[in-house]
Amino acid sequence: MTTVLSGKEAAATLKEQNAQAASQLKARGIYPRLEMIRVGDNPDDLYYQQSLERLCEKCGIESVVTPVSAEAAQDELEKAISAASNNPAVHGILLFCPLPKKFDEKAARALIAPRKDLDCLTELGAARAFAGIEQASPCTPAAVMELLRYYKIPLQGKKAVVLGRSLVVGKPLAMLLLGANATVTICHSKTENLAAVCREADVLLVAIGKAKFVNADFVHPQQIVVDVGINDDPDNPGKICGDVDFASVDGKCAAISPVPGGVGSLTSAILCRNLLRAAEND
Ligand code: NAP
Repeated sequence: MTTVLSGKEAAATLKEQNAQAASQLKARGIYPRLEMIRVGDNPDDLYYQQSLERLCEKCGIESVVTPVSAEAAQDELEKAISAASNNPAVHGILLFCPLPKKFDEKAARALIAPRKDLDCLTELGAARAFAGIEQASPCTPAAVMELLRYYKIPLQGKKAVVLGRSLVVGKPLAMLLLGANATVTICHSKTENLAAVCREADVLLVAIGKAKFVNADFVHPQQIVVDVGINDDPDNPGKICGDVDFASVDGKCAAISPVPGGVGSLTSAILCRNLLRAAEND
């Protein structure tokens, strides 16, 4: 039988801890505030924004949104980021990325004050992520580690295969797994014999952005599979699915995180935790 690794369940404890931390900060006169800067009206950004707004409200964190038109000049975006960076009432900033192509994203990210950078968007943040320290990692890789810890999945000495090598997920996740003493292999679009390499893993972590790409050929009965992907489900319009074909691997691996209800459910709670830490250290 395949165990389902529920991110929702793992997030519940974290949400309680966040609420406690927020009320302790308020008792000391510190009112934690998140500022989200959203360029345009990308539905994925709006979905993430709304779920963060709900979560912040539940935890006692104030959240504000600064919308910037997709037609705005770079200068206007940069002013919004600088204003948030220089506002002492704002403890953390989330700039929804990727930005529409006309914007210089690197220049925009560079204006986020490093101490308010909740998702390693600045160069300093990215450099910190490569130290393999979870507190300094982007939210999604940290959410994967939280999920593995919650379900007591051993990593020390185990073979971990990371499918995907992006700067926001694959690479920093590989560093965190290395920090947990796993033996790590990173695969990408040019990897040969991909399914065979993945089958060697004790823990397979998939972040490629290809709906239902990983099937039963990639897994084995003792394997733990973590699906980071979020894609439009080609078989169910209006729904999302992961990079793993859940129906194909169900019953063929030891455990799998579902989509939705897996890593994504934890990512927002991790972002709130990062915000509260930033407020604490301000
Ligand atoms: P990305 O920047 O597009 O990177 C995709 C990676 O997958 C690249 O390294 C690419 O290899 C590799 N890849 C693509 N097709 C492949 C194939 N056929 N075989 C092997 N490797 C392949 O994506 P990302 O930002 O890392 O996101 C990955 C997925 O995670 C997406 O579905 C995204 O929506 C999701 N995501 C989820 C969360 C969450 O909170 N759960 C957060 C962020 C992202 P190359 O380097 O060779 O091109």
